[in-house]
Amino acid sequence: MIVLDPGHNGGNESHAAEINELVPQGFGQEKACDTTGTNGDDGYSEHQFNFQVALLVQADLEQRGLRVILTRNNDSGVGPCVNIRAAIGNSAHAAAAVSIHADGGPAGGHGYQLLEAQQSVGGSSVESASHRLAVAMHATFSQESGLTPSNYVGSDGYEPRDDIAGLNLTTVPKILVECGNMRNASDLALEESASGRARMARAIADGILRFLGQ
Ligand SMILES: [Zn+2]
Repeated sequence: MIVLDPGHNGGNESHAAEINELVPQGFGQEKACDTTGTNGDDGYSEHQFNFQVALLVQADLEQRGLRVILTRNNDSGVGPCVNIRAAIGNSAHAAAAVSIHADGGPAGGHGYQLLEAQQSVGGSSVESASHRLAVAMHATFSQESGLTPSNYVGSDGYEPRDDIAGLNLTTVPKILVECGNMRNASDLALEESASGRARMARAIADGILRFLGQ
């Protein structure tokens, strides 16, 4: 089973109380249930982009014989909270889980980021499997996505983090992909085009398959 986690949701913005509620982040910390996500200067929203890409990845993986669960099945609801997004992957015993996002960085910054938990509740075997998933995704993203590794955060596209609940709480191999920077004109153009989204979705699907083939 593969779990795809399209970040945020279309109803988050109008449900501030629900999405600001504190939930476990892992290792004794708490954070907000979810956020609204970012958007392009023209209003194209990250939650919509994330969901569009997730559907493409799902279709691609299913066509290639894998079973897929999404953490949300529409783009008009609220949440689910980030800890629940992790729990969905954990209870499915997913072979791999990928959170799909786009960043809202400085206008001059561009490229993809692969976020990994510095520490996850699954322990060192899950942390090293998640890193192997990131390495596989780095290869396919560099070759297929149309994006280069981020030039403004992390190192060569890799970004270890300690504040991402969905990664801290995972007991299955899991990473978060920032598919470019919506505040950058060239990344946004790719995100807004059907062909650009198809390239990024293919890179995610191929990255998962590359990881599973290891
Ligand atoms: Zn996001």
